[in-house]
Amino acid sequence: MHSNQTHVLIAGAGPVGLVSALLLANQGVKVTVLESATALNQDLRASTFHPPTLDMLAPLGLTDELIAQGLVARYTQQRDRQEGVIAEFDMSLISPDTDHPFRLQCEQWKLTQMIQSKLNQMPHVQLLFDAKVTQVSQTADHVAVAFTQADEARNLQADYLIGADGAWSAVRRSLNIDFEGFTYPERFLVVSTEFEFADHLPRLSYVNYCSDPHEWCVLLRVPALWRVLFPTKAEESDEAVLSDEAVQARLQNLLPQPQAYSTHHRTLYKVHQRVAQRFRHGRVLLAGDAAHINNPLGGMGMNGGIHDAMNLTEKLLAILREGAPDALLDRYERQRRTIAIDYINASTARNKRDIEERDPIKRKENQQALRELSMDPVRAHAYIRQSSMLDALERAKAIT
Ligand SMILES: Cc1cc2nc3c(=O)[nH]c(=O)nc-3n(C[C@H](O)[C@H](O)[C@H](O)COP(=O)(O)OP(=O)(O)OC[C@H]3O[C@@H](n4cnc5c(N)ncnc54)[C@H](O)[C@@H]3O)c2cc1C
Repeated sequence: MHSNQTHVLIAGAGPVGLVSALLLANQGVKVTVLESATALNQDLRASTFHPPTLDMLAPLGLTDELIAQGLVARYTQQRDRQEGVIAEFDMSLISPDTDHPFRLQCEQWKLTQMIQSKLNQMPHVQLLFDAKVTQVSQTADHVAVAFTQADEARNLQADYLIGADGAWSAVRRSLNIDFEGFTYPERFLVVSTEFEFADHLPRLSYVNYCSDPHEWCVLLRVPALWRVLFPTKAEESDEAVLSDEAVQARLQNLLPQPQAYSTHHRTLYKVHQRVAQRFRHGRVLLAGDAAHINNPLGGMGMNGGIHDAMNLTEKLLAILREGAPDALLDRYERQRRTIAIDYINASTARNKRDIEERDPIKRKENQQALRELSMDPVRAHAYIRQSSMLDALERAKAIT
């Protein structure tokens, strides 16, 4: 594969920036990725790959390797912390709609590392670390990016820039694009432990949303660990939430054990529902967390970002390689911004409202509705299509 004169800059080497880089580089486009950190992020962040994301990553030679390094979750559950399983969904119901009728539980850093090793073998790709984007400007013909590398000021020009530099996107801020929405008052705590919850909580699947009027939680399995997500109280200080005592109390309250839980990661983070006012500003395109952020209930952040990358790079390739009009990029904004608002933010906000419902009558009604839905194969199929983001992609395609 040969590079040509077209050059795309990408800010951010997270999953969205790197998937974009690989898609473009595979077609011979010269790509430079600017990453502010000195290495790829290794934090425990997203851990669910939805079926259509696995379908998209398969032609890039990534899905089989992810499956080898992850856990195939055929079932997902909605549970009640006191009563146990309320509804179980068998993802094999969507077998006619996808090559991967399951969720894959696999850490996002495994994806970025796999892509990095592919990009490292491509002479027309440069992955610059310690390269922090500070300013973006553009003319009708090119985009210019100012960045610092090892404290030295540098500049690069290219045909297009993809801002995939995360929630605090310098690209978005440099262009004064509003990030409309709100921040939840409570932060979320994620704790990981080797403790085997499945030995103690009957019929536990790998993906469990556990509602509770006092403290809901999500129990997610990754290959070596369980991750437990809890909401925290707005008035609790970071130190108090992250203290051994508080972490043990939360876990003991979930499942009392004679011994203390051993924990690996403790992450406390703010949660937002925000969408950028524009995804396109001339030759600059926003994607992933730079364009939209949401709560993690439903696992749609990283997946939605990868769907942006697929949509955007297909259009950029049509423009760069086939001379398609660049108005195609407005369609990227129409398609993906609509999905970010109407689908990703709407679904995750609803998931949060349902899991934390306090009204006992509404709780029972919700649970009964879910139970009935899960037992009706036609309605369960529709529910799984929606929650696994297949419907969102179909809707996006229909937007002209
Ligand atoms: C603590 C935490 C836990 C999460 N848990 C979940 C979860 O359980 N489920 C879920 O679905 N999602 C979760 N997410 C969200 C998920 O991780 C993101 O949706 C996903 O990482 C988005 O990918 P991205 O590539 O758009 O952005 P990121 O992964 O944020 O990547 C952006 C990259 O840009 C770099 N960068 C930033 N500023 C600059 C700059 N000025 N110049 C150059 N580079 C820059 C950053 O260093 C980073 O490497 C979590 C996020 C966090 C922070």
